Amino acid sequence: MKKIIERLNPHCGFYYDITKVLVRVRSAWQTIELAESLEFGKVLLLDGITQVALKGEERYHESLVIPAMLSHPDPQRVLVIGGGDGGVLREVLTFGTVRNAVMVELDETVISFSKQYMPEISAGAFDDPRAEIVVGDGRAYVEQCPDTSFDVVIMDMTDPFGPSEKLYTREFFAQVKRILRGAEGVFAMHGESPIARPAAYACIEKTLRKVFSCVKSAFTYVPMYGTLWSFKFASGTTDCASLSAKDVGSLLNARCERMPKYCMPQTYKAIFAPEPAAIEALFHPKGRVIEDRRTRFPDAFDPQGA
Ligand code: SAM
Repeated sequence: MKKIIERLNPHCGFYYDITKVLVRVRSAWQTIELAESLEFGKVLLLDGITQVALKGEERYHESLVIPAMLSHPDPQRVLVIGGGDGGVLREVLTFGTVRNAVMVELDETVISFSKQYMPEISAGAFDDPRAEIVVGDGRAYVEQCPDTSFDVVIMDMTDPFGPSEKLYTREFFAQVKRILRGAEGVFAMHGESPIARPAAYACIEKTLRKVFSCVKSAFTYVPMYGTLWSFKFASGTTDCASLSAKDVGSLLNARCERMPKYCMPQTYKAIFAPEPAAIEALFHPKGRVIEDRRTRFPDAFDPQGA
């Protein structure tokens, strides 16, 4: 039995037991592991950090995808940045309005690894005729995209360090805004934990607000991350927090091939309820707008605990 100790910040974390590491490969970018855990079932780790687990993953993937896809008036063209395990792509493709979903993932090995060892997460999404898989850097892909290319952009990125660091900046968010089609376009991303990393939470919020006039937040406990997690929905005019439970119900019926396991009408309202810890986090003294000239987050730490 081995313990995965996940550091949420330099002073606290959580652990879970794994019975064995089933597969471990080193790609050009990172160490990719699939482990069997007693608490969460199969777990995918990148450089020792938990990315996705079978148990409870819908709390993360549905909360990140469904508000953007329900709130946009007609989400037909969608871009997924990162998300190599296929969970976000799976959720996007449950929407019948989608004609084309492009996923740009840096590390091909994460995709092939996830397909082979964790097919439950993508559930066939990689083989959907509407899916277009691009292997490459998400920022470079967005920068070469023509204006107004997508209705919804969803970023499922590793924490802000290493190859993902430059995808959390004001300049990158401005590029995302440029490729969104119209003011109603929606950019969705995770916002870190307002409890475990209040400074990082404040940085992401402040940086999004520098670029988008409407930024809404949702919150839920994500077991595989061991803490309260946040989701950001940024747009010119689309307010993802404004849907009523009745709206959510009728839109899910009209647009989705299957009902969500977690993000149902009542849950939808609950996850958009104001979170006191997030309100407090916005006053964190280290919270600042992240720019290309200084991409390192003020509370960055080595999750491996060096
Ligand atoms: N849900 C997880 C989280 O919140 O930590 C992220 C899951 S997903 C596996 C993260 C993916 O982002 C990884 O497959 C990683 O290879 C990819 N990634 C990291 N940097 C990237 C970049 N610059 N462009 C595209 N994908 C990137």
